[in-house]
Amino acid sequence: MENLSAAVVVIGSGIGGATTAFALAKKGIDVLVIERGDYLPKEPENWSPQAIFIDQRYKPTEKWLDGSGKEFGPGVHYFVGGNSKVYGAALPRFREADFGEIKHLEGISPAWPFTYTDIEPYYCQAEELYKVHSTAGIDPTDPPRSKPFPFPAIAHEGYVIDLEKRFRKIGLHPFPNAMGIDLGENGKCIRCSTCDGFACKVDAKSDAQSCALDQALKTGNVRILTNSKVERLVADESGEAISHIVVSGKNGEFKVHGQRYVLSAGAVNSAALMLKSGVGNSSGLVGRNFMMHINSHVATFDPMRKNDLTFQKTLSFNDWYFDGGKGYPLGAVQLIGKVTGLMMKSFAKKVPLSLLNYIADHSVEFVLMTEDLPDPENRIEVTKGGRIQVFLKQRGMKTHMELLKKAKRYLRKSGYKAIFRQPFDISMNSHQCGTVKAGNDPQSSVLDQYCKSHDLSNLYIIDGGFFPSSAAMNPALTIAAQALRVVAESGLAKGII
Ligand SMILES: Cc1cc2nc3c(=O)[nH]c(=O)nc-3n(C[C@H](O)[C@H](O)[C@H](O)COP(=O)(O)OP(=O)(O)OC[C@H]3O[C@@H](n4cnc5c(N)ncnc54)[C@H](O)[C@@H]3O)c2cc1C
Repeated sequence: MENLSAAVVVIGSGIGGATTAFALAKKGIDVLVIERGDYLPKEPENWSPQAIFIDQRYKPTEKWLDGSGKEFGPGVHYFVGGNSKVYGAALPRFREADFGEIKHLEGISPAWPFTYTDIEPYYCQAEELYKVHSTAGIDPTDPPRSKPFPFPAIAHEGYVIDLEKRFRKIGLHPFPNAMGIDLGENGKCIRCSTCDGFACKVDAKSDAQSCALDQALKTGNVRILTNSKVERLVADESGEAISHIVVSGKNGEFKVHGQRYVLSAGAVNSAALMLKSGVGNSSGLVGRNFMMHINSHVATFDPMRKNDLTFQKTLSFNDWYFDGGKGYPLGAVQLIGKVTGLMMKSFAKKVPLSLLNYIADHSVEFVLMTEDLPDPENRIEVTKGGRIQVFLKQRGMKTHMELLKKAKRYLRKSGYKAIFRQPFDISMNSHQCGTVKAGNDPQSSVLDQYCKSHDLSNLYIIDGGFFPSSAAMNPALTIAAQALRVVAESGLAKGII
């Protein structure tokens, strides 16, 4: 293991790392992916709500600290494919305006160092790679696109067909979710109820392993080291480039050398690794501007309406995405995978399971997603003992509460008698981003518009960390599109010897 090297060393095999490895491999570049986790096993527990939501089988035992020093179990998954192994596969593009500066009720959502037009061709490629299904032009907030969705929208089941009609009747504009699953003729998807939050036993969910990494490995240009955790990035004598990284594996520590390095350990872990290594932080912004969206799960209940859905996550509405009626944006409302009584039990611990089952049989569930505005005080630090600490006081809560109020009003109008809410807490950091902000000015950003470190000539960071703002859309497709853009346009793949 001592002298491992590659032209490009990629740290992490999630959406960021795997998509980058895929694009580099297509160019014939020698890539070594280093992943701290193993392959997620195919086993009965993949589809067990008990194993996943109660026993937390696929979460690490590792605990992070909140700002007051209290431990919590983070919503991260250390496997080949990263968080995408269990994600919900909603793969929308950010809206065109999300790339510019937007005035919010509680401050400014800053502009990105590139525009929607710059990334649009790569959204098309990412949609192909991750098999995105939807129909353009139904959602009034749809950004312009140079190609249609590569796959047709996933058909709604009866309950959602009816829900869509009820929503239209009260003036909303529902549309089919952009979903990354392999459904349709010759597709692997069996349209089961264990998709969102579960691991896919039939490889039909468009995760980073099945769509990008496995394809990259097939080219023969990519190798992967699993169960290998990167401990440090070490700069050369000049301090202007990474000379090697230190990795710990089953048999102890070893070094890996690359001409270029891509850090894709996820927004929190990438920042923590940079801080631990003491590199690339002349701006002082590594770890800062941490965001994770302000999200609520909302269950709407109607005792007269039995929910018999299998695949629920097919519809959303963005009616108040740009303007909630008072001149500033609110956010998105999306159906999520069908929640069962047992899944509700993971947070409603004192409520009898029989009651939760009854509620779940008569409810339909949504996520309400609003933007949390970047704030340097919201940050990741690494304690003296090497532990990750997350300081977070989200800015955008008034906006979120307004979306909640408005959504509740409309959900009642559409027929629901009772509405239950579960706000996301600090442990539900699945949409983590912002910790190594991209920008044009090295004093106010960590990376350039192509995710290259302003300080280190051979280091790129490609995961949600580069986002200057979170928008109010699911992040994975934007991470994938940017990975493809970086490989196509930046110096990452150029001049490799
Ligand atoms: C339950 C759930 C549902 C979600 N649903 C959606 C959705 O529907 N749509 C959407 O867009 N997004 C969704 N997300 C978020 C989405 O999964 C993430 O935005 C995306 O996967 C992030 O990809 P990434 O490559 O940046 O990071 P990660 O997925 O975190 O990948 C990082 C990888 O790096 C590895 N790693 C970390 N540290 C080290 C180290 N020191 N050394 C070596 N390897 C390391 C990790 O093991 C991991 O494999 C969801 C997330 C969760 C958890």
